[in-house]
Amino acid sequence: MGLEELLTDIRDQSNGDKPTICPDCNVEYKYLGLGHYKCENCGRLETDDYGKVRDYIEQSPEDVGLDKTSIDTGVKVERIREMIEMGKISLVGGGKGEKTKGQK
Ligand SMILES: [Zn+2]
Repeated sequence: MGLEELLTDIRDQSNGDKPTICPDCNVEYKYLGLGHYKCENCGRLETDDYGKVRDYIEQSPEDVGLDKTSIDTGVKVERIREMIEMGKISLVGGGKGEKTKGQK
């Protein structure tokens, strides 16, 4: 588990899709979590690939396919597959996880 987390960290850092500096203010973004960033100077919000995919899946009422997620988010299929392999996301629609825990 520890090694897996470390590997995820390394891959995260080398992704290159994460916004780091606000282009308007030249200020470093604050990481809000779950792929969301904010410039505390101007309030500009940014989302990285992970955030886009995560938001998309959360907002989908049903399970979403890999291809459709890629098209709708603009994130490459390979990147999404990577996230799934890392266990960061699963292509299951928003409330689905809770429904399996006993919701009728
Ligand atoms: Zn800014």
